[in-house]
Amino acid sequence: MTTDKLMVSVSGVRGRVGEGLTPEVITGFASGFGAWAAARATGGRATIVVGRDSRVSGPMFHRAAIAGLQSVGCDVIDVGVVPTPTVQLAVEFHHAAGGLAITASHNPIEWNALKFIAPSGLFLSAEEGAAMREATSAGIARATWDRLGQVTADPEAVTRHLDAILSLPYLDVEAIRQRRLHVALDCVRGAGSVIMPALLERLGCRVTAINLEPDGRFPHAPEPIAANLADLEALVRTSHADVGFAVDPDVDRLALIDERGRAIGEDYTLALAASVVLQRQKGPVVTNLSTSRIVDDIAAEAGVPVIRAPVGEVHVAIRMRAEGAPVGGEGNGGVIVAGLHLGRDAPAGAALILQLLTDSGGATLSAVTGRWPRYAIVKDKLDRPAGSLDRIYDTLRSAFPGATVDLQDGLRLTWPDSWLHVRPSGTEPIVRVIAEAPTDARARELVARARAPLDAMR
Ligand code: MG
Repeated sequence: MTTDKLMVSVSGVRGRVGEGLTPEVITGFASGFGAWAAARATGGRATIVVGRDSRVSGPMFHRAAIAGLQSVGCDVIDVGVVPTPTVQLAVEFHHAAGGLAITASHNPIEWNALKFIAPSGLFLSAEEGAAMREATSAGIARATWDRLGQVTADPEAVTRHLDAILSLPYLDVEAIRQRRLHVALDCVRGAGSVIMPALLERLGCRVTAINLEPDGRFPHAPEPIAANLADLEALVRTSHADVGFAVDPDVDRLALIDERGRAIGEDYTLALAASVVLQRQKGPVVTNLSTSRIVDDIAAEAGVPVIRAPVGEVHVAIRMRAEGAPVGGEGNGGVIVAGLHLGRDAPAGAALILQLLTDSGGATLSAVTGRWPRYAIVKDKLDRPAGSLDRIYDTLRSAFPGATVDLQDGLRLTWPDSWLHVRPSGTEPIVRVIAEAPTDARARELVARARAPLDAMR
């Protein structure tokens, strides 16, 4: 069931507030999730962790979700306004039967969403999502008055999250503290303000911050891409900060601004953070098929392979677990540190970047970044044509006979210095076409050549 008002995927449900997304919808999905989790829990009674970002609609949906869980006899541990990775960690900490994060991540203010978290702390996989739908398709048994779930608050989830980050073996907290780095910070009035200033304080940073009020009234488009970070770029310049950090409203994506006040591109967050981990622990790096090949350069220097998974945090997390990867993530600024938990975590990414600046002995972020090649990445999308895309994939494979082919998630063609990825979106009726190459002209040419047969089909 996906409409332009409500989008349902294996790991959650997302919609515009008051259009597709209503308290009834949230209660329905929360009670279905709770009933499924309880059926799998020992003794048939489940504890579910619930947290939310700072969106204006958050308190309403938070109450609706909790009511749904109570109605099927689930006990609730309420962690309040926290980052999504904090909810994931709290599920693991409490050995809960699952978790719900009420957040539309980087989507604009009119959106909200419910995301389902498995007992492992990972988002639900496709198999788990299908099993939940199957188990609840025939209806949900409600609890009688004497079996309703209880609600308790856990105000310590953020502190535990910070403690876990600061005890990562990749960080020398004392050395970072002695560097006294000056950080400019933009939390876009999201949940970042409950964790990022405290993290930076514990790492001895001087902080100049904007948008710390966690009221969900985003002062700019909340996706942390360069086009939305002009205020933070200016803040870095006027405050003479060493680095700028921008996070999205649920704090699983981190973007970097260098000391000259320039957004360095979200693909570099994962690459630079991974370089810090790989200096201290060797192992494969897992990322998705649409992430920049700068990750390959950094892995090659460390002498470790890059493994590519389908797009989506849970695909990367599951593959990291299977491969024993110490670090991975997505090119959108999502860093996953396996020693912490298998979820994208912006505060962990920020701590690793501060370690990088500490390791580089006074070098600026632009100098550190300048050691690596720059690539041009071009992202395009078009309405999904009717019919199977397999014919398009065959056409493109014939057109580029020398490329390495990957069919895990759409079609990805790879050459030594460039790649092209054509994939249908999992949440919208569109096809994404992404290419990366040493020059913008070459990347654009790849996108144009992939679009030609797609446009001809429409
Ligand atoms: Mg997010």
